[in-house]
Amino acid sequence: MQKPVVAIVGRPNVGKSTIFNRLIGERISIVEDKPGVTRDRIYAEAEWLTTTFRVIDTGGIEVGDEPLLTLVRQQAEIAIDEADVIIFIVNGQEGITGADEEIAKLLYKSNKPVVLAVNKMDNPEQREQIYEYYALGFGEPYPISGAHGLGLGDLLDEVVKHFPKFDHVQDEDDVISFSLIGRPNVGKSSLVNAILNEERVIVSDIEGTTRDAIDSTFERDGQEYTIIDTAGMRKRGKVYEKTEKYSVLRALKAIDRSNVVLVIIDAETGIREQDKRIAGYAHDAGRGIIIVVNKWDTIDSKEQSMEQFEEDIRMHFQFLDYAPIVFLSAKTKKRLHTLLPVIRLVSENHAKRVPTNVLNEVIMDAVAISPPSSIKGKRLKILYVTQVSVKPPSFVVFVNDPELMHFTYQRFLENKIRDTFGFVGTPINIFARRRQ
Ligand code: GDP
Ligand code: GDP
Repeated sequence: MQKPVVAIVGRPNVGKSTIFNRLIGERISIVEDKPGVTRDRIYAEAEWLTTTFRVIDTGGIEVGDEPLLTLVRQQAEIAIDEADVIIFIVNGQEGITGADEEIAKLLYKSNKPVVLAVNKMDNPEQREQIYEYYALGFGEPYPISGAHGLGLGDLLDEVVKHFPKFDHVQDEDDVISFSLIGRPNVGKSSLVNAILNEERVIVSDIEGTTRDAIDSTFERDGQEYTIIDTAGMRKRGKVYEKTEKYSVLRALKAIDRSNVVLVIIDAETGIREQDKRIAGYAHDAGRGIIIVVNKWDTIDSKEQSMEQFEEDIRMHFQFLDYAPIVFLSAKTKKRLHTLLPVIRLVSENHAKRVPTNVLNEVIMDAVAISPPSSIKGKRLKILYVTQVSVKPPSFVVFVNDPELMHFTYQRFLENKIRDTFGFVGTPINIFARRRQ
């Protein structure tokens, strides 16, 4: 599901990072606990009441040694491009400054919802001064104290009111939505063009739920596919090119809207650290994943065989051991025809339900052959397994005591399920629950 994006803007030292950290609370540590995934700190997920959203701290972006006003302007522009709602922070101990007015002008032109927060209002007496901030033209100013965590609830209540209602494109069962993510220059745009040139495009240039995404739908063998195009990024100017963090945010939005994500690797340059980070996002999001090795035309197959390359990928992307690998060339179109069938297969697996009786037979047989070892004299008992959801397939294992479910045993059960039902390309979740 697509998540609303909130951007925090304001000149340096008004307290953007402090508030960012307040908003994301403990979540950041949960996110960082996941293996294989490094997070940038300029955006993170936050939750208010029942809504999950993404927060960007535009203060974290520094594009070179820019003068203050240029920097502030760039940050505001990014916020305007990316965010659904903007929190504009000023410093309540300093009054309105020239830079604040500069930002206000840009935000005003953007027509995005802006909620004004007056920070560093640590004491109730200071609240008298709040009225001066009406002058910025964003309606009611919200007094807050990032340092003491005051006023944030009222602020968030207001922010949440402005969240857009997204249509859930990816929930349409008959269309397979997929996106291409990867570092700059791995060949994402070339591959999109290559696919679209081969296919009969039904609709294109449709403004997606995200303003700047250009989605194209085509049909192949009676199946409709929508490419969620992230190439919009390429047209958007230098800030994006220079800030990897922004292309990542772009990729996250595309991932949210996809059933299947193609992680594109450049055969010519080989695997880079950044590739792993990008792949980590798709894995975390629980989407179907295919690793696509593009520019295969540049590889002399005698020198570097597919098997060798595959070995390399498996070593670097251990958390994606379920993802199939497709080798192709967007340029020569060699092996391009192998891609769509794999996308279809992975999408089907991502939405697959298995019959409960067969599932239980398989698990009980596995448990009988390799019973769990006991932990501190207690032994895990597995009573019953059921699939509770799809996209990705998720299973609940009812046990005597969830604490006794060791992750290696969980992994063993996952492998049994994969071996039997063939969930190629999709992550699967297994949860242990107590049942007496
Ligand atoms: P940023 O540059 O906008 O990200 O600002 P920071 O979050 O780094 O904060 C700048 C300074 O203001 C730091 O020294 C913070 O400790 C301080 N600060 C942030 N919020 C508050 C607040 O609510 N009250 C007070 N008194 N100081 C704050
Ligand atoms: P993007 O930034 O990921 O969208 O990458 P582009 O599609 O713009 O491609 C970057 C460069 O790689 C361009 O010069 C392309 O012509 C080149 N390129 C893309 N696909 C292939 C391929 O399959 N083989 C070769 N040799 N070059 C390719």
